[in-house]
Amino acid sequence: MISSNESLFILGLSIVLLLLGAFLSFIAKNSKQGNESTASKIEKILPGVQCAQCGFPGCSAYAEAVASGAALCNKCIPGGPDTVKEIAALLGIAPPSEEDEDLVFLPRLVAVIDENKCTGCSKCLKHCPVDAIEGKIKTVHHINSEECIGCADCSKICPEQCISMQRLKPTSANFNWDIKAVTVKGDKQ
Ligand code: SF4
Ligand code: SF4
Ligand code: SF4
Repeated sequence: MISSNESLFILGLSIVLLLLGAFLSFIAKNSKQGNESTASKIEKILPGVQCAQCGFPGCSAYAEAVASGAALCNKCIPGGPDTVKEIAALLGIAPPSEEDEDLVFLPRLVAVIDENKCTGCSKCLKHCPVDAIEGKIKTVHHINSEECIGCADCSKICPEQCISMQRLKPTSANFNWDIKAVTVKGDKQ
């Protein structure tokens, strides 16, 4: 037989345990939200077009670069000024000035082969993740700038060092609206 004092004790203990559980669950939820990385928050602000016009191979890579301080927050052309301001507010910085030459929007980088130096070894063609390079063995290779996502992988492996990364002149014609549909097949080394 349980006395009334024991019943009260059990009831009190149950209430305390319930409150403790609710408190721990609240702490866990808040700590999870607080742990979201800056890069992840920046990526949520970006439009997700994956067009590489920022000079990085996709929104995720660009968000990482901005979060680490390696890139300015004004390079996403599809996002435009609103995205710049939103990222700047998140980082607690003033939005970059449009008058500063170094801070204006830049068109995307693409790889260009120096035809006078290319020996046609085909290393770059095998390495390109989006099949943007054309050419037969022992003939000069070419890069399709509409397909190139500017990852610079080919320029790093060319034995003749004849691939350079160059910025496209911004025009509505060279904005590759379909590039997000390109299938990246991974490393074909
Ligand atoms: S420019 Fe394109 S790839 Fe770069 S962050 Fe903006 S939408 Fe993403
Ligand atoms: S790796 Fe260099 S030399 Fe070889 S095909 Fe490509 S551009 Fe030409
Ligand atoms: S390897 Fe990268 S930079 Fe080179 S052509 Fe392919 S996508 Fe462009």
